[in-house]
Amino acid sequence: MQTPAQPICERLNAVMTRIRDAERRYGRPSGSVTLLAASKTQPAERLLAAHACGQRLFGENYAQEMTDKMAALTALDIEWHFIGPIQSNKTKFIAEADWAHGIERLKIAERLDAQRNPDRPPLQVCVQVNVSGEASKSGVAPVELPALAEAVAQLPRLRLRGVMAIPAPETDFDAERRAFAAVRHAFEDLQRRGHALDTLSMGMSDDLEAAIAEGATMVRIGTAIFGPRNQPDAPQTRTKR
Ligand SMILES: *Cc1c(COP(=O)(O)O)cnc(C)c1O
Repeated sequence: MQTPAQPICERLNAVMTRIRDAERRYGRPSGSVTLLAASKTQPAERLLAAHACGQRLFGENYAQEMTDKMAALTALDIEWHFIGPIQSNKTKFIAEADWAHGIERLKIAERLDAQRNPDRPPLQVCVQVNVSGEASKSGVAPVELPALAEAVAQLPRLRLRGVMAIPAPETDFDAERRAFAAVRHAFEDLQRRGHALDTLSMGMSDDLEAAIAEGATMVRIGTAIFGPRNQPDAPQTRTKR
């Protein structure tokens, strides 16, 4: 096991090795999976350390925390992804990111579209699908996904790139794969409907291999890079802030 004290570069390299091994094992082209560092609750210095090891994509879950880190690290060529649930009263801040993964309501997408700075490229977005039924609260049901994607694709300051999912945790690899396969089917269904999508955002520290086996193009990895988020009152343990 790796410990939090282990240098971030070694942990990043270990994660990259897992990704490249999984690409090989499951017949994915080498380099077809991108690593997004999920850096919620990590201080800006730790993102800086990861950036120094070559990491460029970072994912944040809380609007205020992302805004603070963007300001602290403004000189760096970081691509900022917002990966948390998007509250209506926070869209102004989330519209400043490069990407937003958790689009599950048209109203939120419309606010992001209205608030996106017209001088910047469109906000790159994924619609979030729930393939776990009642076991998960986030994302739209697969049957509702086409209508949401169609509406989001019409918004001029957003660019629909793909589908994001956080399936409920499973205890075995085959069950993980089945859940990720359901996400891939929803993604392929949107492609068949004519959407030019290139991003399947799924897979975390514990299940990235199963996600890559089922076609993930972007894995969102926190713990395996930064160590456990074990502060008792850490923001990710709250539902709102
Ligand atoms: C925290 C988080 C991750 C990373 O989870 P780990 O298990 O720490 O790798 C990925 N996606 C989202 C949406 C997250 O909130």
